[in-house]
Amino acid sequence: MEFSTRIIHEDNIKDSSGAVMSPIILSTTFERGEDGINFPSGFFYSRYDNPNRHSLESKLAKMEGGSSCVSFASGLAAATVVFQSLKTGDHIILPDDTYFSIRSILDTMFSGFGLTYTLVDMSDLNNLKAAFQPNTKLIWMETPSNPLIKVTDIAAVTAIAKAHNCFTVADNTWATPFYTKPLELGVDIVLHSTTKYFGGHSDILGGALIFAADNTRYEFIRACQKLGGAVPSPYDCWLLCRSLTTFTARMPIHTNNAMQLAQYLETHPKIERVLYPGLPSHPQHEIAKQQMKGGFGGMLSILVKGDRAAALKLATDLRLFTHATSLGGVESLIEHRKSIEGPASATPDNLLRISVGIEDIKDLIEDFEQALNSI
Ligand SMILES: *Cc1c(COP(=O)(O)O)cnc(C)c1O
Repeated sequence: MEFSTRIIHEDNIKDSSGAVMSPIILSTTFERGEDGINFPSGFFYSRYDNPNRHSLESKLAKMEGGSSCVSFASGLAAATVVFQSLKTGDHIILPDDTYFSIRSILDTMFSGFGLTYTLVDMSDLNNLKAAFQPNTKLIWMETPSNPLIKVTDIAAVTAIAKAHNCFTVADNTWATPFYTKPLELGVDIVLHSTTKYFGGHSDILGGALIFAADNTRYEFIRACQKLGGAVPSPYDCWLLCRSLTTFTARMPIHTNNAMQLAQYLETHPKIERVLYPGLPSHPQHEIAKQQMKGGFGGMLSILVKGDRAAALKLATDLRLFTHATSLGGVESLIEHRKSIEGPASATPDNLLRISVGIEDIKDLIEDFEQALNSI
């Protein structure tokens, strides 16, 4: 069966009411069986597992083609647990424009535990090869990257990582398994902020890690979830499962809209540059064509002709694109990344990141037309 059919029909909760859609099981505790020892339902206490979380994890594992999934209360809770699986003295290689808070986690939470990292522009594999140290353990990938939309050749990076005995994590939040399946390309663990395209409506915070079979870190990470307790609530899991049923319907609209908006903006005289992997002008367009099957996703960045003030004015003058952070919702958003990343960030002052929603593309282009006229 195909992906879209399985998400809708498999791993749902059936109860005695005959309800067609899954119920939400809020109970934190589950009854022991007649023997006084076992738990016939397989559930015992909600921090350890519960029916809605079980449903969600089964669906997410299948979507990425993984053997198991461990879900969390946010994407960053999932990332934190990956770093907790390392040991004092280990070294990590991260993309130079990695999701900004990944660096903040390492700086604020892990520097005291002796984890170090090097930032590398992975679009040139020679940079990656030069960054290995004897203690390098983990290579982190994020493609397309945030906010410079760089594309990393996942298969090439995993091959290099394996040759150095390192494990790999791919943050697949942006491409989603609709377009890229990192586990098929040799990655060990896929990370998601389910807050984004999986949630799809900007109203659920969540994260997940999906594992290739026989992953040696799986048991430890599962224990961190159950014991650390940064778990999603049954309601969040239920809402996310509901969102997943429309995931395959939403993704092509995001992508088609993003492609058309990118093409329109690329020819606009007030735009200096458009960064979108689907454009032949994108420096890694060829890799993107190979790695991203059937489309290039809903995220793009633009460099406005002019300075920070011109970029901020454009973001403010747009009416349908809300000037706000985050991405992957049905509604279009635009954001001046440098403002939230702070002065230490290498993001250009005139860059705006756009999450293209599923509104009618004619209205989105018209909105840019009016806003660009006034800058
Ligand atoms: C949003 C995001 C995260 C962080 O996820 P939260 O759910 O906000 O904790 C990590 N990586 C990427 C690529 C993201 O877009």
